Amino acid sequence: MNNNEINTSLSIQNLPLLEKLKSLDEIFWLNPNLEDSKLAIEKSPLTAADIKAAEERLNRFAPYISKVFPETRAASGMIESPLVRIPSMQKKLALDNGQPLLGDLLLKCDSHLPISGSIKARGGIYEILKHAEQLALSHQMLTIQDDYSILASEKFRAFFSQYSIAVGSTGNLGLSIGIISAKLGFKVTVHMSADAKQWKKDLLRSKNVQVIEYDSDYSEAVTQGRIQAEADPSCYFVDDENSKDLFLGYAVAASRLKNQLKQLEVVVDENHPLFVYLPCGVGGGPGGVAFGLKQVFKDNVHCFFAEPTHSPCMVLGLMTGYHDQISVQDIGIDNVTAADGLAVGRPSGFVGKIIEPFLSGSYTISDEDLYRLLKDLVDTENIHLEPSALAGMIGPVFLYRDGLDYLRKNMLLDKMSNATHVVWATGGSMVPEDMMAQYYQQGSN
Ligand SMILES: *Cc1c(COP(=O)(O)O)cnc(C)c1O
Repeated sequence: MNNNEINTSLSIQNLPLLEKLKSLDEIFWLNPNLEDSKLAIEKSPLTAADIKAAEERLNRFAPYISKVFPETRAASGMIESPLVRIPSMQKKLALDNGQPLLGDLLLKCDSHLPISGSIKARGGIYEILKHAEQLALSHQMLTIQDDYSILASEKFRAFFSQYSIAVGSTGNLGLSIGIISAKLGFKVTVHMSADAKQWKKDLLRSKNVQVIEYDSDYSEAVTQGRIQAEADPSCYFVDDENSKDLFLGYAVAASRLKNQLKQLEVVVDENHPLFVYLPCGVGGGPGGVAFGLKQVFKDNVHCFFAEPTHSPCMVLGLMTGYHDQISVQDIGIDNVTAADGLAVGRPSGFVGKIIEPFLSGSYTISDEDLYRLLKDLVDTENIHLEPSALAGMIGPVFLYRDGLDYLRKNMLLDKMSNATHVVWATGGSMVPEDMMAQYYQQGSN
């Protein structure tokens, strides 16, 4: 992809934004291809029924999850995270930015999801459970009426040990896939990009997961993983760039969020808009969640993706229409960021195309701002997140500063005191204490 090709693909409005992207400035982009949600839902290749099937599958596995991961017992084997109000952080954001943030600010704490402490505990674990179920069903070892806690037996572990799993990751996906696969008894290999943190590799090795390290970025780790997996017919490759199952596992979050909002007595309707800010890497996590939310809340939910200024792959793919045919390196950006969960240079083409009619917009955030927000959230709410997970936090500030056209066009300006903003906190509870102390220090500089 060369400069001429990129420039001719851009509308006049987007040209200055591309220049800002190249200069590593923070941008706020409104998606011109957002559609009426009913039309978009009708056209979509994935449906509410697909999400329902994923939800039911997770319900079948709940007795197994509850048995092998005691931390999920209180929730009866459901892998779910809290939704909390963060009023002190809301005040801090308003104060620092010199503008009131109308509405209620909430944090969706996927950072505290059980088993692997990040949003990947949704999609990643779901995809492996589905694969395990299909193997067991096709070998007549299981029916969908069974109590799935039998999967914790030695018989099943011995059965699954004949099969292997592989995945390429910047860290958190590898953690999720590695932990659940090893628990079921699979042989599992995680191909880790250079961004992956040492503690994640150590933790996986302690659980008998084979970890292969690369000096290169995420795309290369995925490519190598794919090649090695193809050479072995008993190996199942989790394809983060193209996986429908990962996407659907993430999408289940939406109906769960609906129940949590209800419990907090938060109303979402034409007069009470919901804004959701989602950190984006390759796109599956935020894409799946946003897709699920649009099925549930239709035009009353407004989803924005957040990416690091050094890894703005999804917004680049959407803005140019090139999706996975373009990488941030093509426009001279290095894909080097402290937000290791978002350090992706080329977006999923599959996700970009599905999510395009549903997404309200995207923005980028600098590493310095991520660290600063990390510190602020500790100081105001005593909540500890990893840098990637703070990308959503600046969303409401950007919306009120640069998104007034959007609010006007959607007749939302006079409804914003009724608005709810949900910042999706995508990871952090498993970060070792000394590392977290370093992150906090970075935010104090
Ligand atoms: C993976 C990840 C994301 C983004 O998910 P993608 O599917 O890569 O877009 C966001 N935050 C954290 C902490 C992650 O690990």
